[in-house]
Amino acid sequence: SKFEDAGLHPAMLRNVVLAGYTAPTPIQRYCLPAIGAGYDVIAIAQTGSGKTAAYLIPILNKLMGKAKKLAAPRPDPTTYQPGLDRPYRAEPLVVIVCPSRELAIQIFNEARKFCYRTMLRPCVIYGGGPIREQIVQLQKGCDVLVASPGRLIDFIERPEILSLRRLRYMVIDEADEMLHDDWQAEFTAILEGGEQEEGNVKYMLFSATFPKAARDLAKTHLAETHVRLR
Ligand code: AMP
Repeated sequence: SKFEDAGLHPAMLRNVVLAGYTAPTPIQRYCLPAIGAGYDVIAIAQTGSGKTAAYLIPILNKLMGKAKKLAAPRPDPTTYQPGLDRPYRAEPLVVIVCPSRELAIQIFNEARKFCYRTMLRPCVIYGGGPIREQIVQLQKGCDVLVASPGRLIDFIERPEILSLRRLRYMVIDEADEMLHDDWQAEFTAILEGGEQEEGNVKYMLFSATFPKAARDLAKTHLAETHVRLR
């Protein structure tokens, strides 16, 4: 199978070609149709399998045609003066949670490739990074947010800066890495922060292994799930 036959939005197909991807990897061949069909997805996938693009391509592809309708209003970069004009609140359509700063930056760079010349604007936040600069970035508009869990909670507690009211997709990447510590309570806060009244948020869980904590998380928060084990 080829990306050309996956029914992708022209802007997405162009960005996939620009990224130099010719054929989808196995995890991508599975996730493109499953996520495209609106299922919550659990994928057991290692780093190097192409798992980042496996969720980014179908999620962003779904949003591309609808970005105008769904996305939050954003400042006009030619006239907006940070600090002087009313600050804009970030209202991402997609949140991707991952365990480390390095991974967050890696996912953000992948998201930038696929958002290139589209209406979608990606941002990244992580602990240890300059919080003021992250706020400036968020206030320029944010449709796709890549975040480490601690910093995401910091911002969820500041609703004037970040709101999950428009959220459509929540991706938990390297879930096993985050679940084996004391993150249980934080995760509940994150997932409940994302829960919408209409219940139309799709959840994606990517993990190299599938321990009990990940199974429990999936049982509580994922519906209509498609599971792929390796
Ligand atoms: P990941 O498993 O997401 O960490 O991806 C591993 C590497 O594979 C990254 O450098 C990606 O840019 C690259 N990659 C992902 N999908 C493809 C593809 N379909 N063809 C070629 N390279 C890919």
